[in-house]
Amino acid sequence: MTTEAEAKTMETGGTEKSRHTHPHGEEAVHSHTHDPEEIRAIINRLSRSIGHLESVKRMLEDGKDCADVLIQLSAVRSEINNAGKLLLKEHMEHCIVEAVEQNDTASIEKMNKAIDMFMK
Ligand SMILES: [Zn+2]
Repeated sequence: MTTEAEAKTMETGGTEKSRHTHPHGEEAVHSHTHDPEEIRAIINRLSRSIGHLESVKRMLEDGKDCADVLIQLSAVRSEINNAGKLLLKEHMEHCIVEAVEQNDTASIEKMNKAIDMFMK
């Protein structure tokens, strides 16, 4: 349950302890609740993908076989896709549920566009 006062605070970008603002939502300040452990897990996955991508770069520098490089590159791509899927699920479970409760059609619309780009 969210009171009208809370909804107003959120519109103006007020930060309550359990809320944060998405760095990708600066123009339309959109604060919402996430599970911090889920977010941490996604950050860890991305860190592993960065390491993986660095190793792909080294493969090229070391003149490794192109077919092997391509296989590793596609592995990095699936890792990034999986991280995106996790974030999408997390966002559905928390933020979108909140947006629907608050009739926040702008946030839902924005997410729809992001899904379109992500699934391309
Ligand atoms: Zn979210």
